[in-house]
Amino acid sequence: MKKILLVAINAKYIHSNLAVHSLRASAGGCKENVFIAEYTINQMKDDILQNLYIQKPDVICFSVYLWNLEYVEAVIREFHKLCPSVPIWVGGPEVSYETKAFLEKHAAVTGVMIGEGEDTFRELCEYYVSAGECLSQAEELMIDGIAYRNQMGEILFTPVRQPKNLSDVPFCYDDLEEYANRIIYYESSRGCPFSCSYCLSSVDKKLRFRDLELVKKELQFFLDKKVPQVKFVDRTFNCDHHHAMEIWKYLVEHDQGITNFHFEISADLLREDELALISTMRPGLIQLEIGVQSTNEVTIQEIRRSMKLERVKEVVQKIREFGNVHQHLDLIAGLPYEDYESFRHSFDEIYALWPNQLQLGFLKVLKGSYMYENAKRYGIAYHDEPPYEVLYTNWLSYEEILKIKCVEEMLEVYYNSGQYEVTMKLLYAIADSMFDFFLELGQFYEEKGYSGMQHSRIKRCEILLAFLRGKKNASEELFQEALTFDLYYRENCKTRPDWAPDPSGYKEMTRTYCANGKMSHLEPFHYHFPEKRELGADRLPVRRANPCWVVFHYDDRDPLDHQARVEYVGTSFQ
Ligand code: SF4
Repeated sequence: MKKILLVAINAKYIHSNLAVHSLRASAGGCKENVFIAEYTINQMKDDILQNLYIQKPDVICFSVYLWNLEYVEAVIREFHKLCPSVPIWVGGPEVSYETKAFLEKHAAVTGVMIGEGEDTFRELCEYYVSAGECLSQAEELMIDGIAYRNQMGEILFTPVRQPKNLSDVPFCYDDLEEYANRIIYYESSRGCPFSCSYCLSSVDKKLRFRDLELVKKELQFFLDKKVPQVKFVDRTFNCDHHHAMEIWKYLVEHDQGITNFHFEISADLLREDELALISTMRPGLIQLEIGVQSTNEVTIQEIRRSMKLERVKEVVQKIREFGNVHQHLDLIAGLPYEDYESFRHSFDEIYALWPNQLQLGFLKVLKGSYMYENAKRYGIAYHDEPPYEVLYTNWLSYEEILKIKCVEEMLEVYYNSGQYEVTMKLLYAIADSMFDFFLELGQFYEEKGYSGMQHSRIKRCEILLAFLRGKKNASEELFQEALTFDLYYRENCKTRPDWAPDPSGYKEMTRTYCANGKMSHLEPFHYHFPEKRELGADRLPVRRANPCWVVFHYDDRDPLDHQARVEYVGTSFQ
């Protein structure tokens, strides 16, 4: 039996590769011939090579993305030396543009499946399964959507593959065993109606939806199997109001209290009835990723994004007030017409919305995108190697990009980690600009030689306290208590920070209020800190003479951020 091996090299173990599973499910009568091998980029290349060799495939196909291109190239080179007669095919966004150049560069590669792969792969499988023993070089191939090398070594392109009806793509998750502890990816629409200049989804304008009844049936399968998380890969999930509403309604009606569904949406497209429905959802039923990218109107226009910023802000704030949905907002540094000041402003404006996560990314100039075609005009210099990240632009120098990277590092540690929630809210009251705050903190890390190292949470607290020492309004006692609150908010710390009071002084109270042992913790505070749903503080709290006693309950955590439930006991400020 001919063996066709689909290889996916993922960025992390918890990721699964929807593409290869969808290709195997689409292989029709050849499905039995198709095998999947999944690895991660953290594995040794040689281990992967050995494993691929041992599997003795007759044909091997690699799924190529931005994060694994160099890795795949290296594996292909060596694999071809070991098995020169095995045809090597590649597919994926990273090889679907400038395909000729890719084939010219990689003599070991037989061909490329360009764009949407399901039907192309099935036909390719049929060709190889029915072909004779000699598989070393493709002859004349009557398969649409490929570029390949013929026996003369010439590179040939076949007609473009027409987009598939998305409802005809088979469901690929009949066996969930191999996905234990991994994220499941699901597609209910393909393509995007928008035209953002840096994005490859804007190139293929053929937006298609999977039949809603089919989608509901498949979602029910995930619900029945109680999978922890399903990530929709739909580029803008809510671009069709009816489609989004039907799916969300179904999830609300069939929620089993466990599965979390992730969606990328355009916040300004959300209507009031969608918001009303979202407000009724179980905390943690859905999470939303919202691309803002910039708040500079000229930039937004230049990158051809359609976004009503004020509506985005309004929607994000409303959802935040519901308190049941994790929101993740994205910004991109290095876009046209966005200089350092403008980016700083974009950052502060979006930070003020207090998303659960604020992801600060750097422009990637992707082959095939409008940005790629216009990079020269914008004076954009970028890395030659994937992920083709921006180095500088007409508006932003490399030095400024480095400063933004410094901000990003601190943002990840102190904000996106969610480990310093209360402290971050207080710092908002003393910082004129959180962008400047993170930059100064990052520069302090560099000066003291702390950058690029792993530090314990307590060490991070100590560094922050040292940084704040002597700063206007930054009372050391206030921030020591805030950091103590944050430490216990997350976990019943084994190591107590040096500045925290000696707990033997309130042993008796602890016994009274923490009857369930290690599952709770009692701590005194002289300040009343911002509560969960509150935004950053306008002013700092005043010190009270008598402490307020707080019990942290670790057996009752917030489903969105996993912080302990907080209970005020004994003498209270309230
Ligand atoms: S960035 Fe998002 S909205 Fe814009 S084209 Fe790409 S997928 Fe569509």
